[in-house]
Amino acid sequence: MHHTSLIATIVAGLGLAFIFGALANRLKLPVLVGYLLAGVIVGPFTPGYVADQQLAPQLAEIGVILLMFGVGLHFSVKDLMAVRKIAIPGAVAQITAATLMGVGLAVALGWGWGAGVVFGLALSVASTVVLLRALQERRLIETDRGRIAVGWLIVEDLAMVLALVLLPALSGALGGISTAHGAGGIAGAFALTIGKVAAFVAFMLIVGRRVIPWILHRIAHTGSRELFRLAVLAIALGVAFGSAALFGVSFALGAFFAGMIMAESELSHQAANETLPLRDAFAVLFFVSIGMLFDPMVLLREPLAVLATVAIIVLGKSVAAYFIVVAFKRPKSVALTISVSLAQIGEFSFILAGLGVSLKLLPPEGRDLILAGAILSILLNPLLFAWLDKAMVKVSAREAPPPVAAAAQPHAVLVGYGRVGKAVAEGLRNRTPLVVIEDEVERAAELREAGYEVVQGNAVRPEVLMKAGLEKATHVFVAVPSPFEAARIIEQARAANPDAKIIARAYTDADVELLGQMGATEALIGEQEIARGMLQRAPRRQPPPAPAH
Ligand code: AMP
Repeated sequence: MHHTSLIATIVAGLGLAFIFGALANRLKLPVLVGYLLAGVIVGPFTPGYVADQQLAPQLAEIGVILLMFGVGLHFSVKDLMAVRKIAIPGAVAQITAATLMGVGLAVALGWGWGAGVVFGLALSVASTVVLLRALQERRLIETDRGRIAVGWLIVEDLAMVLALVLLPALSGALGGISTAHGAGGIAGAFALTIGKVAAFVAFMLIVGRRVIPWILHRIAHTGSRELFRLAVLAIALGVAFGSAALFGVSFALGAFFAGMIMAESELSHQAANETLPLRDAFAVLFFVSIGMLFDPMVLLREPLAVLATVAIIVLGKSVAAYFIVVAFKRPKSVALTISVSLAQIGEFSFILAGLGVSLKLLPPEGRDLILAGAILSILLNPLLFAWLDKAMVKVSAREAPPPVAAAAQPHAVLVGYGRVGKAVAEGLRNRTPLVVIEDEVERAAELREAGYEVVQGNAVRPEVLMKAGLEKATHVFVAVPSPFEAARIIEQARAANPDAKIIARAYTDADVELLGQMGATEALIGEQEIARGMLQRAPRRQPPPAPAH
């Protein structure tokens, strides 16, 4: 069965991740917990089937590429430049703080300080996948906070590319295997790496910027959706791989640039949608592959050291990040989001740990601690984000009291102020008192400034929804994009108010049926409304031809 190990790994990974993810969801735990557990089960430290340990991380890497590509698609060079003033010093200061804490722990454990440097560096880099998934789930990528977090991640990524090149050169000096580089060798390696990264960025901005949109437009004009999808994938994977092979930058960085350049083309929205399903599947395999590395026995062997490692990742790094962001005079909400986003480690840490062990810089226990720290911090991350959501509600409640004026009288409720909701709100403005529920903090603040009564938060949550005074509502307009979320909102709204007119946004007949069952008075399908609009602009009925004389 050797020749089918790729298939077996994908099937076992996705299959078990599905089963345990569904189970975790049932138990009201984050689905990540299920994915990681699936990995532990197909890993070598638990009995039974063992998935291919070489293939799993490679599949995970495809997930990283597609995720970073997707993020790049929402970024422009201008966005990146706008956050550099905080992201560069922030990431550098945080890496320094985490490395110092790592050195401290290493020395306490009786390792050399060279081991401490590798250990600390490994604890300082956050996992791309964990961070981006968390931001995407909360629709934070395109907010101010999200952009800073992504910029910060990119600086960390670059720092790691440098660290991976410089460690072998510095190994002798740090007390590991000497690879016979003099001081000149180290300076040379440093200069060469910086030069390659600069060459890569220049190449992408000069050549990529012209060629990539051109290819995309040509393919879009063929009218073949299949070819377009293929072009997007080929460019994302090709640029990531090519940039790693030719310029020595990471896959993630290559993919990010490919996305960022594509974002300048007006076809980028379509491109983003084409890679979504693949991206999500491979991101799941990422968590499975991390679970596979985990040896649960380390928790019994070295409980205190594991605890200290987790404390550095989750507490030490967060506190450092928090104060750095606050020192840059950004609001507390931004500081909290950055801290929580970065309070975990992942793929880069394993690569560094592996290199450290092979250079005899890091003892194998160090790698075990890093793996345990990674899996525990990834498990804790959704809990931290849940806590963050609560803290944000408090912070925003302090900024503005919940609206009561409109909610106390008959009024309309609008859920979601995006492309659809905005138009609805403007139309309703002089017709009825209105309360808007909007999840995004920045958008909610804008709305408040524009004079709307706003409840900030995810309307799926009952405590958010009920603040809009549903008992008194005459109309509820549910303009959120996800029919799943809409269904849960409508169900609760109907329970709170049997008489209100509930109008919902849908995409398919199946959505209309589901939303109707949940209690919607009417659900409108975008395409049908467009058709109706077209017909309104169509010629009136032709008068019958005048009789010929
Ligand atoms: P669009 O798809 O452009 O109409 O945007 C949808 C808007 O609805 C965005 O501003 C989202 O932040 C917001 N939104 C989406 N889901 C929810 C939710 N569950 N609760 C509150 N606001 C939401």
